[in-house]
Amino acid sequence: MNNVDELEIKKFEALASRWWDPNSEFRPLHEINPLRVNFISQQINLAGKDVLDIGCGGGILAEAMVHHGANVTAIDLAEASLAVARLHQLESKLAIDYQNISAEALADKSEQQFDVITCLEMLEHVPDPSSIVEACFRMVKPGGLVFFSTINRNPKSYLFAIIGAEYVLNLLPKGTHEYSKFIRPSELATWSRNAGLQLQEQIGLAYNPISKNYSLHKNVDVNYLAFYKRPK
Ligand code: SAH
Repeated sequence: MNNVDELEIKKFEALASRWWDPNSEFRPLHEINPLRVNFISQQINLAGKDVLDIGCGGGILAEAMVHHGANVTAIDLAEASLAVARLHQLESKLAIDYQNISAEALADKSEQQFDVITCLEMLEHVPDPSSIVEACFRMVKPGGLVFFSTINRNPKSYLFAIIGAEYVLNLLPKGTHEYSKFIRPSELATWSRNAGLQLQEQIGLAYNPISKNYSLHKNVDVNYLAFYKRPK
């Protein structure tokens, strides 16, 4: 089975040239990047760690983790985004291993290979997110951590993440997200538990339209980050 929505891949490929333009459609990802990288590096010292980034796009998160000392492998199925990521890392003089491969296919040859796996803002774009979660379990070393971020599914998240972000504030292009594919923290927790991962913490990510700032907070009603551990 191919766990990929080709329309989603086309959508990202059409925007690929703008991955590194901080004023483009990817502005929100650039703006939340320091927050989420800090959150990750507070949980684990990335220096010298083997890290896999799933759904890496143009490499915004992958490059930031290299700056924290990680050895990063990064995968996506949008070739145009990988081309941009590879060009950008030449400019940044980094050595990220970018691959066009699905998480499930990489898991077949990389059991227990990574200290840390990140899969941010990606699960809500795939047909079967539980299969990605299971692939993460297979690829993370015992004792290793898996970080997910996605969007909760409830009336408030519809209002904020679709109406607010796509129609009122124009933070994201219309049609970026599909409400029915949003994921409740309880659903992510169930898939993770079934795969063998243990929930460590979940935290919300909020946007303040007045100050135009993002911040981490306790409320996971809309955007949230969660991290899990594979028991030793
Ligand atoms: N994780 C990055 C980019 C998020 S955008 C960040 O947070 O900065 C979502 C990414 O997921 C896009 O790059 C898209 O091409 C990728 N994607 C969508 N479906 C995928 C799949 N089935 N396998 C791998 N990547 C996928």
